[in-house]
Amino acid sequence: MSEAIKEGFSQPAWPLRATTPPPHVSLEDWQDPGWQMRNRIRSADELSRWIQPTPEEVSAIEELSTHFRFVITPYYASLMDPDDPNCPMRRQVVPRPVELADAAGLSDPLNEVEHSPVKNVIRVYPDRIAFCVNNECALYCRYCLRKRMVGDEDWTMRKRELEMALEWIAATPEIRDVLLTGGDPLIFSDRRLEWLLKRLRSIPHVELIRLGTRLPVTLPFRVTDELCSMLEQYHPIWVNTHFNHPSELTADAAAACDRLLRAGIPVGNQSVLLQGINDSLEVMQRLCETLVRMRVRPYYVYQAQLLEGTEHFRVPIEEGMSLFRGMRGRTSGFAIPQYVLDTPHGKVPLDYPFARGREGDDYVVEAWDGAIWREPNPRG
Ligand code: SF4
Repeated sequence: MSEAIKEGFSQPAWPLRATTPPPHVSLEDWQDPGWQMRNRIRSADELSRWIQPTPEEVSAIEELSTHFRFVITPYYASLMDPDDPNCPMRRQVVPRPVELADAAGLSDPLNEVEHSPVKNVIRVYPDRIAFCVNNECALYCRYCLRKRMVGDEDWTMRKRELEMALEWIAATPEIRDVLLTGGDPLIFSDRRLEWLLKRLRSIPHVELIRLGTRLPVTLPFRVTDELCSMLEQYHPIWVNTHFNHPSELTADAAAACDRLLRAGIPVGNQSVLLQGINDSLEVMQRLCETLVRMRVRPYYVYQAQLLEGTEHFRVPIEEGMSLFRGMRGRTSGFAIPQYVLDTPHGKVPLDYPFARGREGDDYVVEAWDGAIWREPNPRG
């Protein structure tokens, strides 16, 4: 971790501080997204140039290599505390043996595959789709909902498959809102992304295009002026990004969000509630207030899913509810995100009247269409 970041590790001060490259890397290379992608960390040996991995982390990297890809950008590695295995950034991306001990976790808890009329198009609501245009990310988060597909070649979208999905959207006039997600759509080159946007904009019933991307967090240098100038040709475009912890809010990340905002793109943030990372009132409030200061709206915080290898991240739903109740009155209303549970019936606010209450180890909620869903969520 760079000294500049380490100094401000627990309290992001304003103005936020930029990351600095290690001595052997020029600032020009550091801020080049191509350099960052080519120099991603892929092994325990490479990781040990940035942090002191514990023996458990080293063995987990090897044991879990066939389960879920391990890749980290140098930029994100520079945010990690080299000496603390419980560092919130480190816990999000470095494997742990506990991932192998989750008896309840599912590979596709939202039944996304069943909700796909064509490959990688997920339709849960009548008027909206999530379109997983690629399956690559700059790094891989250990709690990723799509860990079944990200980094896996079988889920790659070839041009013909993208065409088939576009044909389905064009033939389905109810679809007014298209979320480009993945993986991460900003992994595409500007040219490929522009091809896709142009095709979507040629479909008259597509009113809104949204991009779900974690690159402002994991590789902010990818959000270039050129990218933003291209995106603004295809308005209305909205972006949701994914900061989970205040120490991810660097000057580089803030500058990436600012470039998007200056192109007229509203930027929101979706976090996942993660045990030991952002499940305290102090951390969540600092995250949300700093986001607002960056002009990024805290939008949703998701309950972590019943997903394979993630039991150590899940928080009892009542604790999450009391955390967000605790923010009310202590900060600006628009700095308080909505706490939601994603279900195969869509997102459900974990609040009255949708949250019905606990029945044994399940938490019962009512979805927008009246469907009742029981989420296994032991109190721990
Ligand atoms: S960036 Fe998003 S899609 Fe990619 S691994 Fe992380 S959570 Fe999953």
